[in-house]
Order: sequence, then structure tokens, then C-alpha cells
Amino acid sequence: MSTVSGLIEKAFARLSELPGFVERPDQQQLSMLLGDFIEGDTRGAIEAPTGLGKSLASLIPAIAHAIHGGKRTVIATYTNVLAEQYWRKDLPLALSLFEDEFHPGELKTAFQIGRTRYVCLSAVEDNAPDLVLPIRAQAKLGIETEFRSIIPGPTRQLTQLWQKVAAPPVCPGRLCPHYHDCYYYKGRKQAEKAHVVITNHSVVIQDALVAQSADDGMGMLGDYDYLILDEAHDFPQAALNGLEFELSGPRIGMLIGISARLEHSLMSLAQMAGDEERWRKLCHKFKEGMEACQRALVAYSLDLGQPGILTLTPNEVLEHPQVKLHQAKGGVEAAKDVAQAVTRETEGYARAVDQCIDVWKNMTGPSEQVKLAQETARHYLQYIREIGFGASLLFEPRGVAVSYVGRNGPDAMLRQDLIGLAEPLKELIWNRKPFTCLSATLATDGNFEYFRRTTGAEFDYEEILPSPFDHATNAALYIPKQGRIPDPTIARREGTEELYYQALATELGQLIRACGGRTLALFHSRKEMEGVLRHINLPPELPVMLQGKFGAGAVGEKFKENINASLFALRSFWTGFDAPGETLSCVALVRVPFEVPIDPPQVARLAWMQTLGMDAFGGHTLPLAKMMMRQGAGRLIRRAEDKGIIALLDPRLKSKRYGEEIIANLPSEMRQFDDIYDAVGWIGLEGKTLNL
Ligand code: SF4
Repeated sequence: MSTVSGLIEKAFARLSELPGFVERPDQQQLSMLLGDFIEGDTRGAIEAPTGLGKSLASLIPAIAHAIHGGKRTVIATYTNVLAEQYWRKDLPLALSLFEDEFHPGELKTAFQIGRTRYVCLSAVEDNAPDLVLPIRAQAKLGIETEFRSIIPGPTRQLTQLWQKVAAPPVCPGRLCPHYHDCYYYKGRKQAEKAHVVITNHSVVIQDALVAQSADDGMGMLGDYDYLILDEAHDFPQAALNGLEFELSGPRIGMLIGISARLEHSLMSLAQMAGDEERWRKLCHKFKEGMEACQRALVAYSLDLGQPGILTLTPNEVLEHPQVKLHQAKGGVEAAKDVAQAVTRETEGYARAVDQCIDVWKNMTGPSEQVKLAQETARHYLQYIREIGFGASLLFEPRGVAVSYVGRNGPDAMLRQDLIGLAEPLKELIWNRKPFTCLSATLATDGNFEYFRRTTGAEFDYEEILPSPFDHATNAALYIPKQGRIPDPTIARREGTEELYYQALATELGQLIRACGGRTLALFHSRKEMEGVLRHINLPPELPVMLQGKFGAGAVGEKFKENINASLFALRSFWTGFDAPGETLSCVALVRVPFEVPIDPPQVARLAWMQTLGMDAFGGHTLPLAKMMMRQGAGRLIRRAEDKGIIALLDPRLKSKRYGEEIIANLPSEMRQFDDIYDAVGWIGLEGKTLNL
């Protein structure tokens, strides 16, 4: 039998014979590296720039190891878009490269994302019965994107419909009549055993949490051998989302809904045991208790003077002046009462349900129905208990965490976020399975120190692969002369922001004219973006689109369709926007996206670092900004033939010491200009500009 490296080489030889193949030597090197890592349980960090073909480079060694030794590899991305691309485009191609190496059906693959992204057949039957047939006939994975492509209708209408048919966070499972056809559970079963599992970061976190509390230590993804985290720069955010806790009116409402579904699911067993009345009363009492908690939360919202920090650990950080400044004011005792009541009610209800099932078992005798009822109740009660447990920790946080109150509209919302991820991630992820963190932008200042320090990951091997793109020829760096744009910090301090917006509008207007549109301007705040738009003056042939509060995907698509259009956009476009070709010929990074500590978790994190004697700016704010600037600049060249201009419009990049460091994190070989027309001429865009 071939060795793993032999299988990988053979796959690349086949790949090179395919029409349209572009040779990328680093792609094979990356594949070989990952093959070795899986072989030796090596923990790796690899920066693999855009255009290197890292999806295929990850799949090929995963498949080779499955063929050679039956190893199971999980490949997780941050976005479902990339996970789907892996599944629909890259995986079939990768499998085709191993033809003749395994018998059909021998090598198992699976796709798994979060359960609320799957269609629930039971909900379709109840809420949209006309859709049962088309969904069953056409959906393969049963996920939201398929649903939207199968069912015709305007986006808004489909979104409303989706909310009615999406799988709930917890359901009757095996008691559901559709269980055996259920898309979510089918996917889960496959993922437990498959050799190659494509999933997302949230599922990896969820899987680890399930494994941590399971008697057999097994999570949803089964006992896999190796984890590849693609888009690993976003893994900390996925972890924060997965480990946060929220107690709000809608969350309590969800508990009421879950108890109603549990009541319905177990009613026939209660009837069999002649205990229907008691069962009904028990569920009703819980509903009343939860409604009382909702009312208490509304009353607290009215008393709340200032949202902010309720408590945090370690305790000494509470004394930090910034934490004191951002402390919540008004009715804190009432918030504590709500949290305690939720814990009390959920624990009492869960105990009583367990007792009921025991009584029913004695009355009816053990049966398959009792077994199923126990299993169903376990799912529901686990969810209910988790919320009760989370509420109990709100005023007694563990680890390095902050509890705070925010507002969702007029309503108060109690939350807890981790501010130190390193220790929880070590316990949950890094010490569990060998892994590789893979990303186009994982390093800052040419090393992985920041990622290591903030996530707690330790690596046996680190590598930064070179970009396959020729930035020296295809990209120009434009930085306007000093004095053209005011310093944004000074403008804010002195209340001259309008002048700052005006200057930016003049600069951006000139850029857009020089490039004939085709500009993506990345902003750090909506206020700034709208402020600049107020002053911009361009002819109708050069339209400017604005990222609205909703529908980022739609505006991105419109921008790509109109070559003379420009797009003003925010956070999500800094990292996840892909517009290859001429449609994007200039990326303007309007301001260095320094995190402004306004939200309680940000305030608490910086205060915690300072309490530890660390330099919060140098150790957190600056590296984060460097990473974001790299990601923003990375929107320009998406394919080898792309070319264009990266415009840096923040004057602090020239006036402050950190400016040089930030610029040093961008592709080093780009030629610099301080005249936009020189840059346009040099890069060869001038023939494409409109005569305006
Ligand atoms: S098993 Fe759960 S998610 Fe699946 S169809 Fe039934 S209720 Fe919906």
C-alpha cells in the first residue's frame, strides 16, 4: 500500500493533469506538512496566504490518512459559506484525485453545522405544509442556503418563512415522527463516524462542551484524530460566542416554549400513567414562574440608571478606574433576584420532571416509550439546566470573566463574557486533540506570539508561507501627503469631526474618480461612514453604495455587478469579502481600526491586562489593529491577475510611531506613492478611468 506522502504526491500529479490547473508549489508543500502533522499528532500554526489553495491542500492529506490508516480528520471554518464551499466544490475534487485508491462507500465524509441552520421537517409540516414535498425532493443537506434556493420568493419573505421552519435549539429527538428523516440528526450521525468532517468553529466548541460533560467523554463529532481550524484568526471570536451567556426576556420566553414542547412530548406517557393532571400543573407552574421572571426583568429595565459592569473576576480588576467608570447603576439587587429566581425555577422544574418520569416508569413498567421519554426529557432538561446554571454564575463568575447589563431596545439583558480565553481554550480544545491553526492572516510582526498568548494555543511547528501573488508588480500603496487629512483623534477631541469627514470625502472622491469607481472603502464606524457620505460629491456614473444595517451580502453582490460602483462598508467587509477582478481595483482603509473600549468586555479586558502590569495597547489593541489592517488590505488581490491600489488614509500611520509597524505588516514589496494619479498610472489603471 502507498504511504501517506505517496498518496499525496499521486493526488497532486493527478491535479496537475486537470484542465486549467495552476501550479502552486506551496500548495503541495502545505499538503505534505499537514500530512506529517496528522501522522505525528503535531500541533501546527500555518499562515497560508490567499490564493494558495489551502482548502484543497487540507483535504488531500485528510483523505490520504483516511485511506492509509482510517484516521478521522475534522476540518472547521469560521463561516458557513466557506464550509459549504469545502463541501460542494473542494471535497468532490479532492476525492476525485484518489480514484482507484478506495472502494465506493469505504471512505465516509460528513457535513455538519449548527442545528438552527437546518430545516425542521416537523416545523415545515406544521407551519408550511405546501413546502414539505419540494424540500424533501430537492434538499440534500437540508440547510438554510438550500432552502433559499429551492423556495422562490423575495429575501425578506424567505427570512420570515425560515424562522418558522428552522430546527429549534432543542427538540423531541427520537420521539419526533420525522426523526429518521431529520436532516440535522442524519448529519450528526454521519459526523460521528466520518473520516473527513467539514464543519464550523462553533460546532467544534459545542462538540468539546458536550464531550466535557458526557460520561463517555464523547462529543457530537465522535472520537476524531485530528482537527484543522481554517480561518483560525476568527476562532477566538467563535469561542467567545460559544462560551458567552445571556439572560434576557426572549431567552426566558424560549424556556417557556421549550417547557411547552416538553409537556406535549411527554403527555401521552403521563396519560398512560394516569398522571396527566399533575404533569399539566407542573408545566403550568414553571411557565408562571418564568413569566414572573420576565416581569421582574422588565421592572429592572425601568429602574436601570446606567447599563454597564455588574461584577467581574479577578476581583482586583473591579478597583480599576475604568471599570468603576463603566459600572452599572440602579437596581443591581433586582438583577440578582431575577438571576436567582431563574436558577431556582429551572432547577426545581428539572428535578420534578425527573421524579415524574421515575413515577411513570414504576406505574407503566419499563418500555421503549419510557426509554424514549427519558432520552427526550434529558435533551430538554439539559438545555433548561444550562440556562439555570449560567444564571447562577452571573453574579459569581469563574475564571477571567465579566458580567454586565446591556440594553436590547428598552429591555435589560444580563450577560457574561469571558475576557481571558487562554485557560478555557486549553482545557476545552488545545489539550483534547492535536490540531493545526490555518489562516491567511494569523501572524503579526512575522510571528504567532499574539495568537499564542491570547488563545493559549501552543505549537510544535510554525510556518509562514509566502504569498503566491506578485504584489511588487500588481499592487501600489498610496498614502496621501501629510496635512491633507486631519488626525481623527484630535478631530474627535476638539469637536471638529465635520472637517475631518469633509477632508476624507475629498480624498475618497479623488480616489474614486482616479480609479473609475471600483473602490472598496473600509470604515471603522457607521457614524464616520455616514459622515463622509454626506460630503462626497461624485457624478451619477460613479455611484457609491453603502452597507446598510441589514443585507450585507446583497450590497456586496450589487457592488460586484457594477464595475463603476464603489462601496462604503464596515467590519464584516474587512475580513470576509471576496471580489476578484477589476470590480475591486482600490481598497481604501479609512482609519486604523483600533478597538475603542466602550463595551464592558473590552473595558474589562484592558483593565485586566493593566492590572497584570501588561501594556494593553502594545499587547492587545495594536496587534489586533495590525491583523485587521492585513485582512482589510487582503481584499485587493484575490487572484494572480488582480491588480490595484491599497490606500491608507489615516494620517497617524505617518505621524505616530506605531504607523511604521502597521505598514510593515502589509505586503512589503509594494511601491509607495503620495500622489494618487502617479499610483494609478504606475499600476496601469488610468486607461480604465472615466473621462470625468
Ligand atoms: S427530530 Fe427535531 S429537528 Fe428533526 S424534524 Fe423532528 S423536531 Fe425537527
